[in-house]
Amino acid sequence: MSLLSIQGVRKSFGDHVVLDDFSLEVERGECVVLIGASGSGKSTLLRCVNLLETVDDGVVELAGEDITDPQVDADAIRSRIGIVFQAFNLFPHLSVLDNITLAPRKVHKIAPAAARETALAMLGRVGLAEKANAKPDELSGGQQQRVAIARALVNAPELMLLDEVTSALDPELVGEVLALLADLKGEGMTMVLSTHEMSFARQVADKVCFLHDGRLLEVGPPEQVLANPQHERTKQFLSRIT
Ligand code: ADP
Ligand code: MG
Repeated sequence: MSLLSIQGVRKSFGDHVVLDDFSLEVERGECVVLIGASGSGKSTLLRCVNLLETVDDGVVELAGEDITDPQVDADAIRSRIGIVFQAFNLFPHLSVLDNITLAPRKVHKIAPAAARETALAMLGRVGLAEKANAKPDELSGGQQQRVAIARALVNAPELMLLDEVTSALDPELVGEVLALLADLKGEGMTMVLSTHEMSFARQVADKVCFLHDGRLLEVGPPEQVLANPQHERTKQFLSRIT
């Protein structure tokens, strides 16, 4: 059974079809990279998987459970999925440590000492143990994004969704975040991420998905989709960005 199974998902905003009969299987431990022009539906797809949007049609299953069922406990599902956005969304008035422990303490009712211990372990994991007491604005953009990733990891998610997490970073800070993602993949984390970093996709992705106007036009290993695309649209997109 796939960890994530997206089956015939349709999503519209008004009469604008944003995801059209979208199907994708993600196996445990896979890194799936979504590519496509701005507006092709990458963020909407990730938001549907995390139940930040409801789908109009189709099914999304997490480990065999239909999470698009209206009866589902959305908070319980979200706690099994980590999500990180382009904007780091850290609380500026809280320390790095408090940013990470806030949800575990307030939402998941974890005791402060245990939440702190897990948070420190995750900060160590992303190489920022010494920044626990710093405020976000004392960190570089790359460090802030690594804190946001640490925050998404504290629940030990089964799946990580990452939406253009390096797009807001200065070019010299992109590498440290991509290196962390490559490490997570190496540790067996299942990830679905959108990015414009084609060299990362080439090196780390198991599957590359090319989205065009809400459709999955082409999917396959990077050596196929990036190096030998079959679709004219994919070729055009790749020639524009590389
Ligand atoms: P991408 O992440 O690939 O740039 P998005 O998923 O953000 O694409 O957007 C896909 C399309 O859906 C775009 O045309 C966008 O304008 C539209 N869209 C996204 N969110 C909303 C919304 N909340 N309301 C209306 N239209 C939206
Ligand atoms: Mg987007």
